[in-house]
Order: sequence, then C-alpha cells, then structure tokens
Amino acid sequence: MSNERVLTKTITARCGDELCSHVWIVAHLPMSIDKVALLMKRAACPKCGNDSAVLAHG
Ligand SMILES: [Zn+2]
Repeated sequence: MSNERVLTKTITARCGDELCSHVWIVAHLPMSIDKVALLMKRAACPKCGNDSAVLAHG
C-alpha cells in the first residue's frame, strides 16, 4: 500500500441510493466541465438504475 496521492484521470459517480452506493466511472479526463456536468446529469446507476448520482472522490 502507498500513501502517494494519485491524480486520477477519471470522474467517478456514486449512486444516490445509500443502500446501493455503487461507484462507477462517468467520464475520462481531460474533458470540458460542461461535458462532465452533462454526463453527471444523465448518469444513472448501472447497478440499480437510480438517477440521482453524486460525484465521488476516488
Ligand atoms: Zn445504485
């Protein structure tokens, strides 16, 4: 294990359903913030279909 900080090149979303909490990749950087916002808006959990995804930090 390493404590090094790694700059991730992906945007991940977490399912808005706390019981699911599935995390998946929404976008790959570099990408305009507008595009990311659009993808987040459209993002639905691939596991349970919940459409209130939130940005995850990973
Ligand atoms: Zn889900």
